[in-house]
Amino acid sequence: MSEPFWKRLTPGSVILEAGNAVEFKTGSWRAFRPVWKEENCIHCLFCWMFCPDMSVIVEDGKMKGFNYDYCKGCGICALECPGKKGKKAIEMQEEGK
Ligand code: SF4
Ligand code: SF4
Repeated sequence: MSEPFWKRLTPGSVILEAGNAVEFKTGSWRAFRPVWKEENCIHCLFCWMFCPDMSVIVEDGKMKGFNYDYCKGCGICALECPGKKGKKAIEMQEEGK
């Protein structure tokens, strides 16, 4: 039988390695996922600025999509997205649909 998880915790649950959050793919918590509609994107990067999980992929100053390994589906990006001519470039869709 394997050792219980709590026995592997450090004293005081101190984090000994910096930057270890990358090992935990928290995207599995998500109930809704953001879907990017490129045709409505003006590359303002509001989504990148507001995302609390650094899950918006930006290359050469342009929005390129989402990193679903870490996106928790909070929907802030969709809320803040101005889109083009009143059409949002991010839509939240239920997972598995
Ligand atoms: S907030 Fe919307 S329009 Fe702005 S870069 Fe993100 S997806 Fe594109
Ligand atoms: S849904 Fe939330 S976590 Fe996912 S990309 Fe948008 S702002 Fe980031």
